[in-house]
Amino acid sequence: DVKQGGKGSYRVFVPQMKHKHQRRASLEGLLREAMPHKRDMFVFYQPIVDLTTRRVVAREALIRWHHPERGWISPGDFIPVAEEAGLIQELDAFVFATACREAANWQDGAIVATNVSAACLGLVRLPDLVQAELARTGLPPARLNIEVTETALLRHEADSVRDLQTLHEIGVGICLDDFGTGFSSLSHLRSFPFDKIKIDGSFVQDGDERDDCAAIVRTLAQLGRTLGVETVAEGVETQAQYERVKADGCTLGQGYFFGRPAPSSADMVRVGEIMEAMQKQAASKKS
Ligand code: C2E
Ligand code: MG
Ligand code: MG
Ligand code: MG
Repeated sequence: DVKQGGKGSYRVFVPQMKHKHQRRASLEGLLREAMPHKRDMFVFYQPIVDLTTRRVVAREALIRWHHPERGWISPGDFIPVAEEAGLIQELDAFVFATACREAANWQDGAIVATNVSAACLGLVRLPDLVQAELARTGLPPARLNIEVTETALLRHEADSVRDLQTLHEIGVGICLDDFGTGFSSLSHLRSFPFDKIKIDGSFVQDGDERDDCAAIVRTLAQLGRTLGVETVAEGVETQAQYERVKADGCTLGQGYFFGRPAPSSADMVRVGEIMEAMQKQAASKKS
């Protein structure tokens, strides 16, 4: 689709580009509608297990959004929109408050891990927010982990060092998420008070076919041992991957092999109803 631009020039109109832009704009609109009540937003939890005992030691809180007409919308799609639209702070605060409240009631005493977006590191006083929620819910600091990515750290270096240091000092665990995918710099490991390194699932999965990926997992596990921090293998989907990451020296694992993200018991009924309605809809479309 080529249109005449100015004198002798052509503007190339790329339909896909427009669609992407529109999709994003409409997603922002939908998100703004959903935010005030958050009726369609849920916090799911995915187990993180000790690779030796297979016991659940932690659960990661992951946001889920079900739009009445659009169905489930992936966080990979709407988190970046929320970040750009300035909505991420409210979203993360919701997940954080929900996660602390629910985890305070877990009988097994597992840790709850929540993701903190770059925008939240820079803008809110994260330690204040965390301490307020811990006080409100009675969750002990040792049962809370905060997951940050390297990209988030790079954006707000000075503030985030100070904030993470404060959290670390009150006993909250700090996890470096998706390690190896961002602008990795080993100097981060020295300047930030980390308790866990989460090795990105792509290295775990590509390790099936590629020796270099398996070598990266082994090297990071070794690095973790040297620094005295836990290493979590993310994205473990098969028995073979489980056995390999364990043999490679990772201490913890997360992935579909151990358990998928699932709703809390409080949301189970509503999520079940949503799933049922979707199945009925799919079935009626077929006939
Ligand atoms: P993440 O923090 O690295 O979370 C792990 C992602 O891997 C989750 O995707 C999880 O569902 C997925 N996953 C777990 N096990 C497996 C596996 O075995 N195979 C595969 N292929 N994937 C697996 P999800 O829930 O779609 O979230 C994607 C990303 O969105 C998260 O990556 C995180 O960066 C962000 N995110 C999710 N919830 C929140 C939130 O509440 N706040 C913020 N700021 N970001 C969030
Ligand atoms: Mg995470
Ligand atoms: Mg991750
Ligand atoms: Mg990720």
